Amino acid sequence: MITEHTKHLVDEALFEHISALRRELHAHPETAMEETWTAKRVRAHLEAQRPDALLTEVGGTGLLARFDGNEEGPTLLFRCELDALPIEEENTFAHRSAIAGRSHKCGHDGHMAILCGLAERLGSQRPERGRVWLLFQPAEENGMGAQAVLEDERVKGMRFDRVFALHNLPGVPKGQVMLRDDTFTAAVNSIVVHFKGRTSHAAEPENGLNPAAAMSALIHRSLALDNNAPTDAHMRVVTPVYARLGSKDYGISAGSAEVHITLRCWNDAELAHLQRCVEDAAREIGAQHGLGVDIGYTQHFHANRNDKQTVDIVRRAVDAVGLTWQEPEHPFKWGEDFGLFTARFPGCMFGLGAGEDTPALHNPDYDFPDDIIPAGIAVFERIIRQAD
Ligand SMILES: [Zn+2]
Ligand SMILES: [Zn+2]
Repeated sequence: MITEHTKHLVDEALFEHISALRRELHAHPETAMEETWTAKRVRAHLEAQRPDALLTEVGGTGLLARFDGNEEGPTLLFRCELDALPIEEENTFAHRSAIAGRSHKCGHDGHMAILCGLAERLGSQRPERGRVWLLFQPAEENGMGAQAVLEDERVKGMRFDRVFALHNLPGVPKGQVMLRDDTFTAAVNSIVVHFKGRTSHAAEPENGLNPAAAMSALIHRSLALDNNAPTDAHMRVVTPVYARLGSKDYGISAGSAEVHITLRCWNDAELAHLQRCVEDAAREIGAQHGLGVDIGYTQHFHANRNDKQTVDIVRRAVDAVGLTWQEPEHPFKWGEDFGLFTARFPGCMFGLGAGEDTPALHNPDYDFPDDIIPAGIAVFERIIRQAD
């Protein structure tokens, strides 16, 4: 039975010091590609487990630790994230963020703690067969980290037979696993459109080229493409996130504008199509208004496509440790750069319930619940021992 506490799944002493480590990481949050203190702290913990290899500064600040079995077997990768968010923490508990304007609001501190606990288990009992790599990946929140890791010269030639990752899920009972075949998280990209006109005296806009009308037309046209229907296989979520026109100079008619819109679909092909629709609209509107148009993209996340066999492996592990799993009705609308791993290797990302009363991810009062750490360690360890 799932209770609030899944502590019994690992040794009490391990639980106590891994949750202390989680709170220490929570108090020292660092944002994407700046995770140097975090990497140093994780490195100290990993070194103490005597891995067979330990790579540092992977794709920036990342770490990769390897634990070898005695016999030939599959190479598995387990991934967590190092980065926090530029959000001011509202909590007042003892382990609250010690850094102004930064905090672990996605629970990556908890994901790291789970992998640190797993390292400890593998340090005391090596896998029987194959190899296990534990990846502490930088910069998940801006979608840059997975790519940076995969482009690292030391990682480029590596082949993984299966890759695994989990994300905690507030709103789902603690310890409950959310698992699904195929798409787990959406394909996401953010389009940035610049309209270039010409400034003029604000009293004489007719002497310039003010892109205000083009800007609002683009926002309207883009929103008309949105259906925000997660149960639809052809979901399209179009979210304007930022826009700027001219400057706060009241004597000047605006001469430039930019519009930033985040686009989401359930797969990479549909996202590419949606991108083209918004691009076409931007070019057409720009031409109508005689404006220069510049189009760019940022923060691209591939859809996480779970491999069916790998999902079965996770399902068996969840059953074996006595937890329950459920299939969400539709994939999650957020982007996760683990999608770059599942695009290259058979893999599975799954959700781990963080409690129905836990504040949502990225909320200023969110805190990763320590009592689900054992569930994460137990499922991951079971996957490894199952492969024995
Ligand atoms: Zn996040
Ligand atoms: Zn996250």
